[in-house]
Amino acid sequence: MPPRAADPALLPHHGPTPALAAVHRAIVSCERCPRLRRHCQRIAIEKRAAFRDQLYWGRPVPGFGDPAARLLVVGLAPAAHGANRTGRVFTGDGVGGSSDFLLAAMHASGFANKAVSRHVSDGLELRDAFIAAAVRCAPPDNKPTPEEFARCQTHLLAEWDALPNVTAVLCLGRLAWDACWRALAARGHRVPRPRPLFAHGTSVRLDDGLAVLGAYHPSRQNTHTGRLTPAMLAEVFQNCRLTIAD
Ligand code: SF4
Repeated sequence: MPPRAADPALLPHHGPTPALAAVHRAIVSCERCPRLRRHCQRIAIEKRAAFRDQLYWGRPVPGFGDPAARLLVVGLAPAAHGANRTGRVFTGDGVGGSSDFLLAAMHASGFANKAVSRHVSDGLELRDAFIAAAVRCAPPDNKPTPEEFARCQTHLLAEWDALPNVTAVLCLGRLAWDACWRALAARGHRVPRPRPLFAHGTSVRLDDGLAVLGAYHPSRQNTHTGRLTPAMLAEVFQNCRLTIAD
């Protein structure tokens, strides 16, 4: 068994509702994908040299944020030495990593009380936003298989059901975009045909009023190449702010 970090569900961030707490218990105890579970546990034991003195979470990672959120942000999966280490989504990806990039944009638009997300005791709180992921276990090479996406959809659906005020969904990257459209269909939303194509900054309003927005994932691959700039992501979150106010 890997060493255990603190259980995020027990930390004082927004005090999850009973429904959300139940979903999170189911997520952290899930063992449905043997390949991913083995990978996460191996990383938690081997560790990165810079974190060798830390206890890694090493388990599936639940979502994080405001149970009353109107904005649901959906990423791809935990980072091996980020959320798989800290136990909180988009937390601890390192200076200049995905979490810093995302939180800076969320803070600028009032969705977060801090612009950085380094560890589970850093006092970060999300306001009117909740961050989830399409897959809850860190995958090798950041590539879950279609079967792993399908298995983990259950958790996204359950978490979404426990967030009764969501009126907009922001998908970070094409894989999250595709996963969200599959989840929307499973939730019974009328999905446009053909399915809307992913593009950074795109926004689709469904017949029932739910808004679906897309942005490039704030991975180093995108942010270090200039494909995604801080201004581009900040603009998307400003658009989210306007969208949920409609
Ligand atoms: S990826 Fe999802 S379904 Fe698979 S083991 Fe992890 S939490 Fe369970």
